[in-house]
Amino acid sequence: MIPFLEPFDTTETVIRAAPIGICITDAEGRFEMVNPAYCEFYGYREEELLGQPFTLVVPAADRARMNDLHARFIAGDSALEDTQECEVQGKDGRPRSILAKAARIHDGQGRVKKVTFVVDITERKAMEQRLAYLAHHDELTGLLNRRAGLDLLEEEIRRSRRYGTPLCVANCDLDHFKRVNDRHGHAVGDRVLREAGALMQATMRRHDHVIRLGGEEFLLLLPGVPREEASQAVERLRAQLASTPITDERIPLTLSAGVAQLAGDEPADALLERADRALYDAKHAGRNRVQETADARPVGEPVS
Ligand code: GH3
Ligand code: MG
Ligand code: MG
Repeated sequence: MIPFLEPFDTTETVIRAAPIGICITDAEGRFEMVNPAYCEFYGYREEELLGQPFTLVVPAADRARMNDLHARFIAGDSALEDTQECEVQGKDGRPRSILAKAARIHDGQGRVKKVTFVVDITERKAMEQRLAYLAHHDELTGLLNRRAGLDLLEEEIRRSRRYGTPLCVANCDLDHFKRVNDRHGHAVGDRVLREAGALMQATMRRHDHVIRLGGEEFLLLLPGVPREEASQAVERLRAQLASTPITDERIPLTLSAGVAQLAGDEPADALLERADRALYDAKHAGRNRVQETADARPVGEPVS
């Protein structure tokens, strides 16, 4: 029985039958009423919740902030949104996402309470996060995808021009990759791509970027280093890959790469085209090698 809703016990019946979680907390944030849907969602029995602070279902790191929000809501702070997306946790400790819509009510003695309606949006949030991830990452390797990589290149070009620091790119293509698929099947080919991507990420410096452009083509962004240094780094990667048989099948794998340094005023596509031409030269020179381009005047060097 909800004392302050008397004598409308049909109201209580409705609240109990509601398919969404409903709770009432007092001014101090203690549970005064929880309906069965609320209990079921959080995995607690009614008697485990009544009298407890609502922060029982809030992750520890969020408790101070949620207590503060509760106090402001009870005080009638009009700046507060009455609908909030929150991260909560049930008795099993699993994180969930909810949409909580709250209303201020008064009991028979004029005391302010908060009634909260809880909608489970865990699956929707997980789906949104997955879509946001896939917008920027390649699903197979987990590396940045082409679109995110090209955006990042534009950003690195702006940074290079602003600070006068060098920027290099390397276009890498796995050698004879079609043979890997032909000999071992597409599923093994996929695993090879995944492991090759991981090896690239592990071998390059932390502030380099490894991007899967598509297929068996990868783009490396190497900010802050001139061409000779970038070529040495890519050469280390080439040697590392050539000496590391990939997957349980221990497949030998090599790559060819074309390295180019950003020139003073060239746009991203011109830079990529130069790197691509160097890659083409590396392929024609016999593969398993790193080829540099002769650069136009690089960023950070005076006009001679
Ligand atoms: P080259 O040394 O000249 O680069 O030869 P290559 O065989 O690597 O080049 P080619 O472009 O002829 O073939 C690339 C192959 O990569 C063909 C394609 O089936 C394979 N490939 C592209 N994307 C994927 C993928 O996501 N998974 C798998 N398993 N194979 C892929
Ligand atoms: Mg290719
Ligand atoms: Mg290839």
